[in-house]
Amino acid sequence: MIDDQDIIIVDEPELTATERLYLPQIIDGMRTTLRHMFKKTITLQYPEQKREQRIENYRGVHRLNRDEEGRVACVACFMCQTACPAHCIHIVGTESPWDDREKYPLQFDIDELRCIYCGMCEEACPVDAIELTPEYDLVGRTRDEMILDKEKLLEVFDRTVALKPRKNPKISGYAGTGDRDGCQSAGGGQ
Ligand code: SF4
Ligand code: SF4
Repeated sequence: MIDDQDIIIVDEPELTATERLYLPQIIDGMRTTLRHMFKKTITLQYPEQKREQRIENYRGVHRLNRDEEGRVACVACFMCQTACPAHCIHIVGTESPWDDREKYPLQFDIDELRCIYCGMCEEACPVDAIELTPEYDLVGRTRDEMILDKEKLLEVFDRTVALKPRKNPKISGYAGTGDRDGCQSAGGGQ
């Protein structure tokens, strides 16, 4: 049971004669419409028009970087896979055929549909081998097409390196100093 003192009675507000005509509100609305008609248009007609991007920090499709000799720069340390909150990176590492690193990725897949583009993988990589690019219009007809394997990730690097150079091309192994003296490369592989 509710006490009478707890009940608040709200009287319906009385409208004046002008308010009942709704003219002030209509004039107000027209004024807002007219004001916007003469403002600069900010809507872009995508895809004919594209917004200017901040290339340096845009987090789009991934790429696997190549080192100075065209080989995949990844050393299969699994740091990105471990850091990924969406669990969308899958790496199979194996013994490297090159003397300057112990391992390299035999398989490297990223599920671009599962990815939340947080950039944690890029942050975690000790050799700057994985980076997010300014590419954002990735399309595919099947889910499988949206899983980028090592070859596709290297292709993204080839496509985007002119637009966004590799962050730290000097780092290419656990030594981390860019000193590649003594490297006996097998050359050009992936
Ligand atoms: S951007 Fe984030 S979610 Fe996507 S692969 Fe990298 S760590 Fe995972
Ligand atoms: S963190 Fe870098 S080096 Fe390590 S597995 Fe990922 S991409 Fe390769």
